[in-house]
Amino acid sequence: MLERDAEISIDAAWWSRSMARSLARRAPLADQTNAYRVVHGEGDGLPSLVVDRYDRWLVVQLLSAGLEACRNDVLGALSVIPGIEGILLRNDAAVRTREGLDRSVEVVSGSVPEEIEVREGSIRYVAAPHTGQKTGGFLDQRENRLRVGRMARGRALDCFSYHGSFALHLARGAESVVSIDSSAAALERGRANALLNGLENIEFVQADAFEDLRRRERSRERFDVVVVDPPAFAKSRASLGSAIRGYQEVNLRAMRLLAEGGMLFSASCSHHLSLTRFLDILVAAAADSGRRLVLREILGQPFDHPQLLTIPESGYLKGALLEAVD
Ligand code: SAH
Repeated sequence: MLERDAEISIDAAWWSRSMARSLARRAPLADQTNAYRVVHGEGDGLPSLVVDRYDRWLVVQLLSAGLEACRNDVLGALSVIPGIEGILLRNDAAVRTREGLDRSVEVVSGSVPEEIEVREGSIRYVAAPHTGQKTGGFLDQRENRLRVGRMARGRALDCFSYHGSFALHLARGAESVVSIDSSAAALERGRANALLNGLENIEFVQADAFEDLRRRERSRERFDVVVVDPPAFAKSRASLGSAIRGYQEVNLRAMRLLAEGGMLFSASCSHHLSLTRFLDILVAAAADSGRRLVLREILGQPFDHPQLLTIPESGYLKGALLEAVD
């Protein structure tokens, strides 16, 4: 007769062990940055839980009713992590409403400043954990920003730039950078971030990226490096059709703006859009653009956003590095 597996009891001690295991996995990141994801939901075996570390503070999201029931044990396990001075619950994500949960932002341990300085390679930026998008920054593009920064040259364009994220890295090696976003608050922090790094070659433009790219195409502008990192256009499976049209349009415009030999980094963070479909979109956009493009690299999620192979949705971020060769 088979023996029954030992029962797992999900108690305070289990949560403490799980957090310690996740933290230990992140140890190699300490040299690169002081901001990284400590727990990436399913990818770390802790579904619906997001824990981002910004220097000495943690920003946490509990994204399901099941996890909410364990709230005290989760927060208890996090509050004993050495070197942590405060925990902010960013429970304002829309998905909580679907779980029948309230939405709020609250400090649940110690205190958490309005702004936290983040070190990312040779760049520093200020994240706004209480009011910024997601948990205050987009930690998932960290490695891609470092990668794209290494190709900086000439004239660069960062579309959907948030607080100047890619732009800051590009500005180190480019002559000039244009940083476009629709959010005034994000761009205001972008300007402060440029100052923080002593960078004076970034122009911050508040605009709808679709309109702005069309206008630049009409006036035949050209860029040596272009980044397109839009928000998730496909928020649900039902919206996939219109999302695909959005990605195709924005990529088509970006491709037409490339100078000869120009590089495009194009990303999508839609859970519902697979890498294969994303590449199909780029193929269609390239065909419409009349440009000849070479796929140089496929990029994805960083080390601290692990994708569980059997849950494809945990691998939401994909990107392609394209070079215009005509
Ligand atoms: N590249 C950023 C993350 C971008 S997230 C990083 O690495 O940190 C998507 C951004 O697109 C957000 O900052 C949002 O304000 C902006 N945005 C959304 N719709 C837009 C639109 N139509 N035009 C321009 N920006 C838009």
